[in-house]
Amino acid sequence: MEHEALFYKKLGEKKVHCQLCPHYCVISPDNYGNCRARKNIDGKLYSMVYASPVSVAVDPIEKKPIFHMLPGTDAYSIGTTGCNLHCEYCQNAAISQAFPEDMPGISMQPKEVVENAIREKCPSIAYTYTEPTIFFEYVYDTAILAKKKKLKNIMVTNGFINPEPAKQLYKHIDAAHVDLKGFTEEFYRNICMARLQPVLETLKLLDKMNVWIEIINLIIPGLNDDMKNIKEMCEWIKDNLGTDYPLHFSRFYPCYKMMDRPATPYETLKNAHDVAKKAGLKYVYVGNVPEEEYNHTYCPKCKEILIKRTSFFAAEKNQLKSGKCPKCKTKIEGVWN
Ligand code: SF4
Repeated sequence: MEHEALFYKKLGEKKVHCQLCPHYCVISPDNYGNCRARKNIDGKLYSMVYASPVSVAVDPIEKKPIFHMLPGTDAYSIGTTGCNLHCEYCQNAAISQAFPEDMPGISMQPKEVVENAIREKCPSIAYTYTEPTIFFEYVYDTAILAKKKKLKNIMVTNGFINPEPAKQLYKHIDAAHVDLKGFTEEFYRNICMARLQPVLETLKLLDKMNVWIEIINLIIPGLNDDMKNIKEMCEWIKDNLGTDYPLHFSRFYPCYKMMDRPATPYETLKNAHDVAKKAGLKYVYVGNVPEEEYNHTYCPKCKEILIKRTSFFAAEKNQLKSGKCPKCKTKIEGVWN
């Protein structure tokens, strides 16, 4: 559905200049921006995916994955077509790289999203599956209504957004699951068609705005699995965001344009986990693997298992008492109620 976009300027010859993300697309009439979700129609910029999700589901919050917020609850999850990144290993390429004409969504206005979340007994709404930044207006309108009904809002995002829109949106967002795809500009440029620095700036901004952050890093053999680089990433997190936010390492499986690479060896993920712990990060997880050892939340002081997870789909047992370890009373960072 067409909805006039926020954050753009009109140029001569009916061109428009989108200011939403660091691509800063200049778009001629009848053309889309790089994200394939925003289109110039007769000199005005429109979101073409407003209130038209192509994916809607009730998911365990752990599936986002968000581990330190309302464990064991469901998140009402929505996503439209389009993305401002073009990662060669995208697991959702069928929708993230589609134009709205290729895959028209169902009609679901912000008010209906909130009503559905309440009806499905979901205490949160997750904007996910593709990149919610590019369906900004839909997220923004829904998030404001959701807040009024005391629901939490979660962005599952690549963090590639400009600071002004981010400041406007994240006032209404409780948690962000940010995909830090690698820790070199080269990886972002060659594999994702984007840049690293704006993502780092977003992470710093969200921390300043008191948005609960969980970071995911998907490790691809031969591309971003260098332990020296992973150590630099962990140290950057510690120095700029502190040691309280969870870091999730995730296993790569061959996908989309990267069918020729093997899945990430478990050993590599374990090594990355150890590097992150050694750097001082308190909560480090390993996802997308059948092994459960690194899916549990441990007390960083006494090492007690506080939240036991059978897989990333479920929090099986939660021992936290008022956000603290029941044994040694250490405060565990997160949003627990
Ligand atoms: S949001 Fe889309 S149209 Fe706007 S600058 Fe980013 S990629 Fe381009």
